[in-house]
Amino acid sequence: MTSEPASYVGRFAPSPTGPLHFGSLLTAVASFAQALVHRGEWLIRIEDIDPPREQHGSDKLILDMLEAYGFEWNRPVSYQSTFAPRHDELVACLLDQGLAYKCTCSRRDLADATRGLLGAIYPGTCRNGCGSGAAAVRIIVDDRPVEFEDALQGPYGHQLQSVSGDFVIKRRDGLIAYHLAVVIDDFDQGITEIVRGIDLMDSTPRQIYLQRQLGFTTPAYMHVPIAVNGDRQKLSKSTGARPISAENAGKELCMALHCLDQNVPAGLADEGVSTIWQWVSENWSARELRFKKEIPATLHGYG
Ligand code: GLU
Ligand code: ZN
Repeated sequence: MTSEPASYVGRFAPSPTGPLHFGSLLTAVASFAQALVHRGEWLIRIEDIDPPREQHGSDKLILDMLEAYGFEWNRPVSYQSTFAPRHDELVACLLDQGLAYKCTCSRRDLADATRGLLGAIYPGTCRNGCGSGAAAVRIIVDDRPVEFEDALQGPYGHQLQSVSGDFVIKRRDGLIAYHLAVVIDDFDQGITEIVRGIDLMDSTPRQIYLQRQLGFTTPAYMHVPIAVNGDRQKLSKSTGARPISAENAGKELCMALHCLDQNVPAGLADEGVSTIWQWVSENWSARELRFKKEIPATLHGYG
């Protein structure tokens, strides 16, 4: 049987660096809610391409928790590491086309580089050839602005030459860079809208640039506010965010919706998670989050 491809495909793409905490729950809720109101598909992709940062077994903890909270995904969970051959093939393509080059500069070589919005601006040292030994791969950027319209945050863009310069798409240790992996997988999986935390908004122009160099279409973007603690740091494992628990899933889910400025009716928190998602599919409105950047999770007992 063939079926029409879904006209909306969303995704949640956690890195398996620890159990799900309230901050990642908020992003997952926003992303799934967007797919529900569009009657679209929703996928989960575990972004396991940076082993040094990963915590063994946390993929399972994340998936079990999503299941306990009543999230439903339409395809088997994918693991980004399994797409490595495809990633490498496209790195080779970019090199062949002269759109990227090998770079043997060490961190020390770049210590004096000018700093831009996104860190050291690569001075282009290896554009015309590099030394021997372990090499990273960099994509060549230009001075044209790369702009997009975020569904919540409005227009945004970078002129890459002045914020990062030619940036790394494959690391010197052989690992594919996040920017390239995410662009390839989102395209291959047919993702139409990317809903993720606003902390990744800075990454988007580089990712759109890569889409253009690869001849890919650009999906829609919605960067949602991130949960922060009392010191206005993003909730994360390193800032000591508390993992969420499967007990009281309904209450926690309603708290997440409330934090996302949804008008949750009294009593909904006492219902099962499937009733809550039914309510979400009829009532979710992302508009409430327009221009919002932070959610003070501490006020709600998290963080
Ligand atoms: N894997 C990334 C993270 O957990 C998210 C990537 C994305 O949504 O584009 O921060
Ligand atoms: Zn170099």
